[in-house]
Amino acid sequence: RTTHPTLALSHSQSSLTRLLSTLAILEQKDGQLSQSSLSAVSAGLKLSDSVTGFIAGSDAKSVAESSSKISGLSKIIYVSNAAYDKGLPENWAPLLQQNIEKGGYTHILAPHSAFAKSTIPRLAALLDTQQISDITAIESEDTFVRPIYAGNAILTCQSSDTTKCITVRGTAFPPPETSGGNASLEEGVDPNASCPTTWVSEDLQKSDRPDLGSAEKVVSGGRGLKSKEEFDRLMPPLADALGAAIGASRAAVDSGFADNSLQVGQTGKNVAPQLYLCAGISGAIQHLAGMKDSKVIAAINKDPEAPIFQVADVGLVGDLFEKVPELTEKLKAQ
Ligand code: FAD
Repeated sequence: RTTHPTLALSHSQSSLTRLLSTLAILEQKDGQLSQSSLSAVSAGLKLSDSVTGFIAGSDAKSVAESSSKISGLSKIIYVSNAAYDKGLPENWAPLLQQNIEKGGYTHILAPHSAFAKSTIPRLAALLDTQQISDITAIESEDTFVRPIYAGNAILTCQSSDTTKCITVRGTAFPPPETSGGNASLEEGVDPNASCPTTWVSEDLQKSDRPDLGSAEKVVSGGRGLKSKEEFDRLMPPLADALGAAIGASRAAVDSGFADNSLQVGQTGKNVAPQLYLCAGISGAIQHLAGMKDSKVIAAINKDPEAPIFQVADVGLVGDLFEKVPELTEKLKAQ
């Protein structure tokens, strides 16, 4: 725990709350706010009674209008410009810097997403402040809790920076109500920064399955699946029978069984579904870092000593090539 003398100590919590000015960066894609953006609002509401949202992109104004009902948002600043559609950090960092300096915000919150992992460090550098990453709790206006060493240690850090740039672990902050609010809209500053990076194309995996990051149920496969053919043969029917998203271990991704976007863990996605059912995954700490907050963990593994059984609520020791099809058939029959 690092401590610095701060102005905070001489004020009461309530007067401090009034002094705080919190900005939540709201990510949107094709006019839809990301679920994880809502967690940035929830985190902001732990710091101050009301939070300002920030949205940019070609249809920013209409997204701002449709987001104005989110509970706890008092204002939404929007910048309508297609230059911000693809989340290029080189464009976004100066955009955020100018709007933050204009508004005098003390706390900048963003979901701990791929976009924020590229953008917020650049923003922090422009603001000459130190980023605070992947927080899971807020102790006070300057003290935050975050996992380190793949979740094996919990760090409580205190920041004396005037402006704090924070990314928020979505699973740690339940989203606010999306109705009942009445945020005002304000057009933000657009620096129209010219940037040397150009968006060329994207190759997206299309799926009708729930989004891995926010699914209620996840089925996940590991190296024990042995091949891409077996992964594709066994995991999608199980996912469909449960209405679940599909995840994978890094070993499965690195072996080419599953797409990179499905990786769960320290260097993949963090998930905390109601049910996490995994097959052929040993339970390495880097994998647990991304799923151990799941409500119910169920594991199928042929090795009774596999570390996954130490965190599993339900364990099935057996050969996944028998157990997964059997389970899928039983679920389909229900
Ligand atoms: P293995 O550890 O090889 O386990 C395979 C399991 O399948 C075994 O337990 C075996 O008993 C079981 N099995 C085999 N055959 C069968 C069968 N027929 N029936 C039932 N069970 C069977 N890993 C991640 O997952 N996500 C991350 O984000 C991540 N980030 C990392 C970051 C760093 C810096 C490092 C160093 C590592 C990271 N890893 C990550 C890798 C991690 O350490 C493990 O190597 C990885 O999670 C192992 O994947 P696995 O469990 O699928 O494979």
